[in-house]
Amino acid sequence: MVDHPRAGVHYPRSVGELQAWFRTDADCRDYLEWLRWPAGFVCPGCGHAVGWRLGDGRFQCARCQARTSVTAGTIFDRTRTPLTVWFTACWLFATGKDGISALSLQRALEIGSYQTAWTMLHRMRAVLVRPGRDRLTGAVEVDETYIGGEEPGLRGGRARGKKVLTCIAVEVREPKGLGRCRIAPVDDASATSLHAFVTDHVEPGARVITDGWQGYRGLDKLGYIHDRRSQRATRARGEDPGELLPAVHRVASLVKRWLLGTHQGAIEETHLPSYLNEFVFRFNRRRSRSRGMVFYRVLELAIAHKPVRYQDLIASKRPRKIPPAPPQTRGRPPSLERPPANRPWRAADLPSSG
Ligand SMILES: [Zn+2]
Repeated sequence: MVDHPRAGVHYPRSVGELQAWFRTDADCRDYLEWLRWPAGFVCPGCGHAVGWRLGDGRFQCARCQARTSVTAGTIFDRTRTPLTVWFTACWLFATGKDGISALSLQRALEIGSYQTAWTMLHRMRAVLVRPGRDRLTGAVEVDETYIGGEEPGLRGGRARGKKVLTCIAVEVREPKGLGRCRIAPVDDASATSLHAFVTDHVEPGARVITDGWQGYRGLDKLGYIHDRRSQRATRARGEDPGELLPAVHRVASLVKRWLLGTHQGAIEETHLPSYLNEFVFRFNRRRSRSRGMVFYRVLELAIAHKPVRYQDLIASKRPRKIPPAPPQTRGRPPSLERPPANRPWRAADLPSSG
């Protein structure tokens, strides 16, 4: 892992560069090896740092003899999808301003089944939350809103989703503008649920701005500066009480529009948290100078993430197919392999010659 990854060296700047760099699965595997083992192979079993590369591309540990591949124990574990297809999917996922739906991904990469495209996107989504990530600081608006549920325009008429109560926290910048946000489902609007959300997502010492709801009472005792805004007082000042918490309301409308737009509202309640994580990941990187950098981050997280099994993704239900039904050819997407690349991420590590 490099401290300051550079565009055009450590990650591709464009789709042209992506295609030039990752021509074969071996190119992709080498990039993943570079991300996972920047100083060379380390045995995931025993931690030993000496091993041999086998003919099939795997490594064998010199101490415990275990054989392993760079993708073993990560979200690419046992994937039947070529890595070239994974990398292109990851590029589309990371660089699209609003991401990509499973149906669009299936069409873009000619993936045989909707289910494969759906599962790839869910695996990428699953890596987006880093444990121990920084909590929000400064002035933070917090409010609850319902997300999901019956939405207009869904084919078939009846929406099966149900509205989920979520809590939203957004950093407010002075004099204006939004910082980072967090969104997560909450069981209810009780003090227990709301206090737990705030302590999970906001750093103590922050100024937490809420409406007058009693569930937020007591935040000052948890180490926050609590700024309660009363609707009645706002109305008395002649201001619009709907604009009491403009930052959270802006984010709430963005997330609802994104779910309806990119994903056409077709989201099961059980999967809502992972879509919310994806939204938060995108929102918090909306000013990222390079989309290729986001691609790099997603792969970096993916190669450090434990496998996400299909069975876990469909804990409650199978993915709902969006009509028109995709062709039912099962199996591997067509490979995107071409002659191997010269791997600029490796060249950057070598001393320059001449
Ligand atoms: Zn070992």
